[in-house]
Amino acid sequence: MSIDPGRGEADSVLRPRVLLVEDEAELAGMLAGLFREEGYAVDVAPDGHTGLHYGLSRSYDVAVLDRGLPAVEGLDLLARLRRSGVTTPVLVLSALGNPADRVAGLDAGAEDYLAKPFDIDELLARLRALRRRHLDAARTLPVGGARLDLDAREVVAGSSRTALSQRECDLLATLAARPRQVFGREDLLALAFPEAENPVVVDTYVHYLRRKLGRGVVETVRGRGYRIGAPG
Ligand code: CA
Repeated sequence: MSIDPGRGEADSVLRPRVLLVEDEAELAGMLAGLFREEGYAVDVAPDGHTGLHYGLSRSYDVAVLDRGLPAVEGLDLLARLRRSGVTTPVLVLSALGNPADRVAGLDAGAEDYLAKPFDIDELLARLRALRRRHLDAARTLPVGGARLDLDAREVVAGSSRTALSQRECDLLATLAARPRQVFGREDLLALAFPEAENPVVVDTYVHYLRRKLGRGVVETVRGRGYRIGAPG
């Protein structure tokens, strides 16, 4: 028996996802490589039509859009995503960098705008900041392909919502806040159940979460503890 069969798959499910819409193949390849090094799962769309298709059919943590694109122009693509209710934070990366261009980008629904040529460290830092602000604003945490809504205490997957108790929510939020980390039971006891003393409470609530959300929602890492998985 392998220690943790679903692990590789769950890791890729939990990695933050970025959509990169860029028609210059060399730049797209370079950025995709850097994003992967940063821990992102990357989808590259070489034209606006493909970008629109990905943006509407898949879920991303952040998107980077070029403006001058074949098929559908970048700001048009962005406006269409926003009209369809897609709230993914978007950074527009464009050779058009004067103030009027930036205003047009922000008015079309972009959260941020960076003119080419750009500094790669600045781009990566801006993407990190965008994701942070987005999570803070929404008060949600990704759980696999679903999201934990901390205010409603619900796990939202597409149109389905699963209500959690406060303790279930506290435990899931603790795990989901650091998706790569394996937490020992004592750590989870201290972080999620500060008023409790017996670490068995951790196992009990892991059991409740799995019963509501599917076995995979919390992974057991044998001999070490638990980490977040994916519901269903
Ligand atoms: Ca272009």
